[in-house]
Amino acid sequence: MNPFKVRLTFHGDLPFFLRSKRANAERRLNERTSVKDIIEACGVPHTEVDLILVNDQPLDFSRVIGSEANIDVFSIDSKAVTLFQENHLQVRDIRNFVADGHLGKLVRDLRLLGINVVYDRDGEDRQLVETASRRNRALLTRDRRLLMHAAVRHGYYLRSQNPLEQTIEVLRRFDLAPVLTPFSRCLRCNALLEPAEKQKIIGQLEPLTRIYYDQFRRCPGCGQVYWSGSHFEKLQKRIDAIRNRLQAEA
Ligand SMILES: [Zn+2]
Repeated sequence: MNPFKVRLTFHGDLPFFLRSKRANAERRLNERTSVKDIIEACGVPHTEVDLILVNDQPLDFSRVIGSEANIDVFSIDSKAVTLFQENHLQVRDIRNFVADGHLGKLVRDLRLLGINVVYDRDGEDRQLVETASRRNRALLTRDRRLLMHAAVRHGYYLRSQNPLEQTIEVLRRFDLAPVLTPFSRCLRCNALLEPAEKQKIIGQLEPLTRIYYDQFRRCPGCGQVYWSGSHFEKLQKRIDAIRNRLQAEA
């Protein structure tokens, strides 16, 4: 087969992933290659791509390119993606997640807001990919190789290294603002909290907590008891900071 050239144009914030940080790239190919492999060879994980046009025609990742072509690659927030609505490749409103082991602070924020996030600090890459694919969760990570795994259907590469910024990114990418239920989920193990009678958990409480508080919630997963003590104010401040950022950007 004669070598051939493909020209790629990356729209929205996708140039972020390219080494050159520029929107245009060219690749020389010696064999028929899938669109997914061509795009990912440029550094862009398929989970970040919402629309692909090859010579102005919408195609999916599995399509094989065997001759010269112009490929337009759009991110989920590209302004131009109002076209070809039925050809979009990503799902916006995913509600369940799995996060890689480096993202403890992001996970705490998301659980605080009531979002379902599986997290194992010592989990291996293989387990992350399996949890994402078998349980249909979106994989949150800063490891783009993981997102390039074919078994990962949904995922998101966190642009920022700052936990607050990361939280805002995830809420925006998956349209989560309307479904937040703060203080409904265990920060340690992700289970949904249940109301607890004071008498039943009184043995777990410090003396002053026994005196000053009457309303408690307990995690059926790990047994952790929650109440609106001094730590509660700190958490409420964190929620307010997140909400303020979301509103500022709305
Ligand atoms: Zn728990």
